[in-house]
Amino acid sequence: PRETVPDLLTAAAQRFPDRPALEFVGATTSYAELRDAVARAATVLRDLGVRPGDRVALVLPNCPQHVVAFNAVLRLGAIVVEHNPLYTPEELGSQFRDHGAAVAIVWNVVAPVVQGLDAPELREVLAVDLSRALPLVKRLALRLPVPKARATRAAMTKPAPGTTSWDAVVAGATPLEEAHPGPAHEDVALLQYTGGTTGSPKAAVLTHRNLIANVTQSLAWVPQLRAGEEVFYGVLPLFHAYGVLLCLAAAVRLGAVLVLFPRFDVDQVLAAAKKRPPTFFPGVPPMYQRLAAAAEERGVDLSGARVAISGAMPLPLETAQLWERVTGGLVVEGYGMTEASPIVIGNPVGPTRRTGTVGLPFPSTRMRVVDPEDPTVDRAPGERGELLVQGPQVFSGYWNRPEETAAVLLPGGWLRTGDVVEVDDDGFVRIVDRIKELIITGGFNVYPSEVEDVLKAVDGITDAAVVGLPGKNGEDVVAAVVLERELDLDAVRESIRGSLAAYKVPRRIVAVDDLPRSQIGKVLRREVRDQLLAD
Ligand code: ATP
Ligand code: MG
Repeated sequence: PRETVPDLLTAAAQRFPDRPALEFVGATTSYAELRDAVARAATVLRDLGVRPGDRVALVLPNCPQHVVAFNAVLRLGAIVVEHNPLYTPEELGSQFRDHGAAVAIVWNVVAPVVQGLDAPELREVLAVDLSRALPLVKRLALRLPVPKARATRAAMTKPAPGTTSWDAVVAGATPLEEAHPGPAHEDVALLQYTGGTTGSPKAAVLTHRNLIANVTQSLAWVPQLRAGEEVFYGVLPLFHAYGVLLCLAAAVRLGAVLVLFPRFDVDQVLAAAKKRPPTFFPGVPPMYQRLAAAAEERGVDLSGARVAISGAMPLPLETAQLWERVTGGLVVEGYGMTEASPIVIGNPVGPTRRTGTVGLPFPSTRMRVVDPEDPTVDRAPGERGELLVQGPQVFSGYWNRPEETAAVLLPGGWLRTGDVVEVDDDGFVRIVDRIKELIITGGFNVYPSEVEDVLKAVDGITDAAVVGLPGKNGEDVVAAVVLERELDLDAVRESIRGSLAAYKVPRRIVAVDDLPRSQIGKVLRREVRDQLLAD
């Protein structure tokens, strides 16, 4: 009951020593091997001076070294800080100055960037070699915000000057003594930056207790999962709260095999599925859409995928239907946020789920729907309002940001989600939109998602983002759309008048090639807005 995250691995290695814990580019690591690698890595970090409560930064794509480093840091009672390796030097710099880690474990291609950061506390950079997975990581390296020269074979296979090879020092270390003290249940485990959808990411402080609670809740949510029998596909980034919880923690509690992919690539996933098919597939809707369509076209059997969990953004009905037809399994939608470890609400994994909703609160999780202007005032049943949640998975605040913490964490541990929801008579929650992205035009409220749904239903429009731009009504509703073929956008405007109140109809519809998305695939409306303003 007072369990910590490293206890999960200790237990799995005892129970399933020979079962594969990880698979990466065809090579497997057993649970016993993973435990031993973590024990050696912990010695390396201890000898570098890492002490309980110290922050250690990871700047890594999905790879076995990521799993080893994560567990080794926690084993010492130190705090993991996850980073998106594709972030710019400016973004990484402000995060490093924020958390003040002295040691960083990074993909060798980004090592020169990390070494060049204006980060006074940083002393040691350990470089991880992923040349074993060159074809998989090359495409990722090309997307790095650094000169292309760095994404060369040489840069990927050699540690940068001034760095230490993580792989070499871990291989040569002696395992940490079992008696070495580990963390306590209430200790901080993780500083997890938020997705950065509405502004610059803030680090949520998550304890072992928070993460263990959410592992227990998530596994209770999906009773189909059986210890020692599951194959998890790790396509979600492990530097995002969603991937951390399900792939780094819940998979270990189950003794599952985690098949790791450094980036989501349909060909790679389908090739792996022919050899070791997934049984459980946590992901986001665009992955299900592309994967199911490709599997159907190429005749790849995905029938082992009994359950898929969709989150982070709304799951379109067509996507759910396609995935379920192709796999014969279920895809169910849940809802969460970094500040809550992250999952708080989920649909029943079975026939009583309700498509179009995110489901019911998790066990031990309470919710309220309140007036966003005054969160002490509850809404009448069925009325829209801001969702508040409370539970053992809810964080204790943002790192170094007392004002932002006070703004979202209310007395009694109630977290303001910033999301507007509607709850039906049976308690199923429907996410309407983010309060921050609400458009106020001529005194009326317009939820962008409502207008986007109407636009996306127009034949020939494949994607849409709706934003408010300064105009004479306060804000004007403006839409950016991605087209499948040429369309008369004035005619589109006229055609949707029947489906939307006049004040919701976009004043302007602009065709764009693509919508900007976050690493996990969310449309970044604020960037759409900036682009439209610049035009
Ligand atoms: P930031 O807080 O930095 O602006 P973010 O909110 O996108 O970024 P996350 O913590 O990764 O960072 O995402 C949580 C948010 O994702 C929720 O507040 C909600 O708006 C959205 N979300 C999560 N699940 C769903 C879902 N199933 N449907 C719709 N939206 C969802
Ligand atoms: Mg958020």
